[in-house]
Amino acid sequence: SYPVYGRIEGPIVMIGFGSIGKGTWPLIERHFEYDADKFVVIEPDARQHNFLKQHKLRYIDTALTPDNYREVLSGLFPEGKGFCVNLSVDTSSLDILKHCRELGVLYIDTVAEPWAGFYFDTADNAARTNYALRQAVRDEKAKNPGGPTAVNCCGANPGMVSWFVKEALLTLARDTGRDATPPTSRESWAKLMQGLGVQGVHIAERDTQARRTPRPRNVFVNTWSVEGFIAEGFQPAELGWGTHEPWFPENGHTHDTGCQAAIWLDRPGAITRVHTWCPTPGPQFGFLVTHNEAISISDYYTVGQGAHPEYRPTCHYAYHPSDDAVLSLHEMFGSGKQQTRHHILTEDEIVEGIDELGVLLYGHEKNALWFGSRLSNEETRDLAPYQNATGLQVTSAVLAGMVWALENPEAGIVEADEMDHARCLEVQRPYLGPVEAHYTDWTPLQDRWEHFPEDIDENEPWAFRNVLAT
Ligand code: NAD
Repeated sequence: SYPVYGRIEGPIVMIGFGSIGKGTWPLIERHFEYDADKFVVIEPDARQHNFLKQHKLRYIDTALTPDNYREVLSGLFPEGKGFCVNLSVDTSSLDILKHCRELGVLYIDTVAEPWAGFYFDTADNAARTNYALRQAVRDEKAKNPGGPTAVNCCGANPGMVSWFVKEALLTLARDTGRDATPPTSRESWAKLMQGLGVQGVHIAERDTQARRTPRPRNVFVNTWSVEGFIAEGFQPAELGWGTHEPWFPENGHTHDTGCQAAIWLDRPGAITRVHTWCPTPGPQFGFLVTHNEAISISDYYTVGQGAHPEYRPTCHYAYHPSDDAVLSLHEMFGSGKQQTRHHILTEDEIVEGIDELGVLLYGHEKNALWFGSRLSNEETRDLAPYQNATGLQVTSAVLAGMVWALENPEAGIVEADEMDHARCLEVQRPYLGPVEAHYTDWTPLQDRWEHFPEDIDENEPWAFRNVLAT
């Protein structure tokens, strides 16, 4: 007795059938009406074909490229209706979403992905940022407003965490005796955050999923796309840059064009550590891996505009991946070489652990509030097949985004901050395990190594200078 959210007319084309595609398919099957013979997957990796055959899913054994994507997609959407669900690496989100809008079909993805080659062959670090990738999508939105809905960056993060920020703001408003009526415009959401005195947001995640066998050397082990994680880990660290920051990092760079909400550091994100906090571990190190939501959230909650607005929160990812992934990163950066063997932990081999993924809103009168999902792999197995806890947080956000797109088919290009967070969370919540709010009085000034003097700012506990680990 699962709710069916509507009928998708025309073909559903899924691009990429990796860990996220495989987990999204059963949710689509469960929650939408559609013609099963019009569901088709584009997947070039032979290792995924057996599953597709066993489940009688039609697939096309092709890698989309800048040269073929128009022809392939036009052929699959002959009637000007349908849904394109892009869950692959190495395909340009911007090019594909533009083409889908021309074809009149709905579109969703979980990342502003570039074509193959961008992450490693682009020499200029500023051009390799998520800022550049996101700004290109925002520019396209500004140039061509409205029209068929294309939801960009709607996974767990980027995606769901933007809905958590709104829920956390309303929780904080209620708990501090303020009006907790949900605002109805971007400007009033930004004013709410400013009025609450929120200085910034960590996307604070701790993944404790583990299998019984130790990680073999020379294998990169992760709980989601290894390729995706290596690519973003090698991009420069990036963060939305808030107006309360009293100090600017020596290796920091601003942008002269676009929304100017973010900065980047001359250092790969996956070896840039930050002090952060999650409910299970309490204080912990996270990696400042660049993510689209760090920029979109800082941009969305800006009061004013440009490089020096009246108010803007700092925002960045603070990611403690699974222990096997931490060791994999350590090995990769230490050796200067990517492991040639990759492995994504499956729900069956994981014996313990949860993915604790939330937003930590800090610097306000109650110090800090973590709001998020604490989904275990064990619970995940009962909720939906073919995925671990990390996967289900992502695939259920894709489901929510698809429902929203179907209900709002002419919304143009949107990112998660711009969607109805209450509706999206209503759809997603049955798949998120415990969704909880936790206050803490911890700040980055606490639990440091006191034998070694550090250059920190005692007056501004949450200043990025204190958050960044030296
Ligand atoms: P994966 O590596 O398991 O699978 C990616 C699939 O894409 C592979 O099966 C691969 O063969 C296929 N592919 C590669 N090149 C292709 C091409 N040119 N055309 C068509 N298919 C191609 O990755 P995953 O874990 O399933 O993640 C999929 C995407 O979702 C990645 O871009 C990842 O960054 C993103 N993601 C987003 C979130 C989020 O929360 N927003 C979380 C996890 C993953």
